[in-house]
Amino acid sequence: MPDLLTITDLVKHYPSGRGRVVHAVDGVSLSIGAGEVLGLVGESGSGKSTIGKCILRLTEPTSGRIVFDGTDVTHLSRRGMRPLRRDVHIVFQDPYSSLNPRFSIGQIVAEPLRQHRIASGRAATDKVCEMLERVGLRAQMRHRYPHELSGGQRQRVGLARALVCGPKLVVADEPVSALDVSVQASVLNLLTDLQRDMGFSCLFITHDLSVVEFLADRIAVMYLGSVVESGPREQIFTDPQHPYTRALLSAAPVPDPAAQRDRRRVVLSGDVPSPLAPPSGCRFHTRCPVAIDRCATVVPSLTPVRSPDHPVACHLVTEDSVPSLAQ
Ligand code: SF4
Ligand code: MG
Repeated sequence: MPDLLTITDLVKHYPSGRGRVVHAVDGVSLSIGAGEVLGLVGESGSGKSTIGKCILRLTEPTSGRIVFDGTDVTHLSRRGMRPLRRDVHIVFQDPYSSLNPRFSIGQIVAEPLRQHRIASGRAATDKVCEMLERVGLRAQMRHRYPHELSGGQRQRVGLARALVCGPKLVVADEPVSALDVSVQASVLNLLTDLQRDMGFSCLFITHDLSVVEFLADRIAVMYLGSVVESGPREQIFTDPQHPYTRALLSAAPVPDPAAQRDRRRVVLSGDVPSPLAPPSGCRFHTRCPVAIDRCATVVPSLTPVRSPDHPVACHLVTEDSVPSLAQ
């Protein structure tokens, strides 16, 4: 399938006082096909949200290239960005702060229709009612205000607002992690159903690998600003290659206890290093249970291992001599 979004060598560095620089994103290349869901996974501070913001130009990339639907959008003017803003929408993590408390639900969901001159008046109201029902809310809900809704209902409103223009791409940034565990599954199932019905592509950002197990077509794993492994979902879950991916997977709960035994738990020592001073060589070397001397000095490059669409950045994996990670 042709790529809808292609990101090449994206870098985002922020100045951080006293001449120091936060290396938020350091040379990430990704692509998302039409109708495809890419799960972007990593611990907090790995740069996932920054990538989402760069796509929507909520923050300016330091360097690199972003091509959306055949157009290089990296340096477009505000005016030139309009088609992108119509076709790409974001669902934010926090359903409490992302809805303006002064507007009714109907006004909030209608706002993108008005902004992009897609519909107004009666036609807009009809679209809003239809969209509310598609996300599992009653059309009457449009007269309510955000403070009258539960977290799960608010996130459904966030979805309705993101989808009302019929976007080509949805950036979902940890859309369920602020919700009660009891409602997370229903919102995830809803997003999955809507994605299949409406066919939009999705960049699904999460710190929790298990969240994308049933949703993503492909998965990219990030660590400290770089992608360390990416590939088709089944390959990532059944045959993970990078020691970091294995550690994330071993920590994820699985419904079948027998399967859990196969995923021997890999416990990582220490915290994620500061993106102000990322480690030399392989950035994971300070926590990697199988690091060798070379890892501290030589940066491993992403190299396909199992198949052309499954690249991994690890000296040991690309040398085809992966030791057991069991502890
Ligand atoms: Fe671990 Fe070295 Fe591989 Fe990095 S390159 S993941 S430190 S073995
Ligand atoms: Mg984030």
